[in-house]
Amino acid sequence: MSQIETFEEMKLLPQILSNIQASGYTTPTPIQKATIPLVMQGRDVLGCAQTGTGKTAAFALPILQNLHRTQKNKQGIRCLVLTPTRELAQQIQDNFVSYGQNLRPRACVVFGGVNQNTQVNTLERGCDILTACPGRLWDLMQQGIVSLDHVEIFVLDEADRMLDMGFIRDVRKICEKLPERHQTLLFSATMPKEVEQLAMDLLHNPETVKVDPPSSPVKAIDQSLYRVDKANKKHLLAWLLKEEHVENALVFSRTKHGCDRIVRDLKREGIDSVAIHGDKTQNARVNALTRFKSGDCKVMIATDIAARGLDIEGLSHVINYDLPNEPEAYIHRIGRTGRAGHGGIAISFCCIDEVKQLGQVEKLIGFRIKEKQSPWPMEVFTPTVPQPRMPRGERPAKLDAKGNPAPEKKPQRPPVQETRVQRPQKASVPRPAAQSQGRQAPKNMPRVAIGKDGKMRAVQPEKSMPRPVARVNRRRGS
Ligand code: AMP
Repeated sequence: MSQIETFEEMKLLPQILSNIQASGYTTPTPIQKATIPLVMQGRDVLGCAQTGTGKTAAFALPILQNLHRTQKNKQGIRCLVLTPTRELAQQIQDNFVSYGQNLRPRACVVFGGVNQNTQVNTLERGCDILTACPGRLWDLMQQGIVSLDHVEIFVLDEADRMLDMGFIRDVRKICEKLPERHQTLLFSATMPKEVEQLAMDLLHNPETVKVDPPSSPVKAIDQSLYRVDKANKKHLLAWLLKEEHVENALVFSRTKHGCDRIVRDLKREGIDSVAIHGDKTQNARVNALTRFKSGDCKVMIATDIAARGLDIEGLSHVINYDLPNEPEAYIHRIGRTGRAGHGGIAISFCCIDEVKQLGQVEKLIGFRIKEKQSPWPMEVFTPTVPQPRMPRGERPAKLDAKGNPAPEKKPQRPPVQETRVQRPQKASVPRPAAQSQGRQAPKNMPRVAIGKDGKMRAVQPEKSMPRPVARVNRRRGS
């Protein structure tokens, strides 16, 4: 790994150095020390790094530097950053803006869930660095609004998450539209086979940078566990939020409904909270995050949508209301606190149905999480047996605006696909009955003909059938 220890030694532009200083960074993090010089040299990089390691600055700073230096007479999008979630896209954009103060390259962001017009207007004013989520970017490309013909640097962030979220095919389609020659930086917290394959396809002679494997959670985080019955989790959460010195807490629930339920439960206890999950509109997601980040609301309940990459400055607590199904998600979740080496507290709840997940998490992190006692110790030791779903009863009739039963809508038939093939018109020659019914007449069946005398006679098939043309020709030729 490189010997460079300070930002100054990296020969970054004075504007960038002063922007770094304004962000409050004094020394580069390990991933920055390793990655920044490589990107500045134009090398492809495969970065295997945990979130919270300073990965964004590791690619954003040298990209800004390289593009600023070669900006003259350049047009079009010169750097594309693909990232899986809207929140991450916005965060990366914010970083480009703050690290890029007083520099020439202009940064824009596009993601779905909001009207595209504002994004299109911004793009039309000029964009050098585009951060995007794959779905919206592909849409804009299909509409001819975005072209990747001028891309010089391509960053694929959180590649393993792209895979989990089912975006890999979109990513591949987008990559096919990139110009042949460009620099590629691929970052992934884990390296499943598909990501390895993608890396092999996209990167040319890359340098690999590995910082903290994902199985070693941030050391500075104080991790503890409460064994508690499912029904008492809400009481335990409210108690902790009131008792513990909680500046702000990000609470993870396994399901979207679970998030909404926790918000309602906390409200009953007089605790204000916001929820963020995939069923919320983009506006609601932005509002929730803004309220939480600004400190207006101290508790945010989230699904794993917020487990990765989200940077919440000074987050004091992460609470796993439910343990995740995938043990790796535990590491990503608790990594929201203890950012950039600062301390943080991670508390997990475990009911009898989650003992297996707890075992998997502890196996992954390599130690037993210390247990704490609460006024709601676990009392149910029999795991819930999953019940088969009962068939639903009759639904009550829908009522119209006046309260009368609404007329039932006829189920729409699927449109019939017209797949008629135009056949050449044939003279209508009557066929033998067997043939017309789709059956072939048996080969050696004697045929009959009516003679001049009006009597029926058997006819030898060879004599009555026309000879095949090929045989006739052969005879003629011979
Ligand atoms: P990231 O992994 O890029 O999401 O960054 C995690 C956090 O670390 C963010 O809050 C950054 O502002 C912060 N950070 C990035 N680089 C440094 C640095 N060199 N020194 C201190 N904090 C940093």
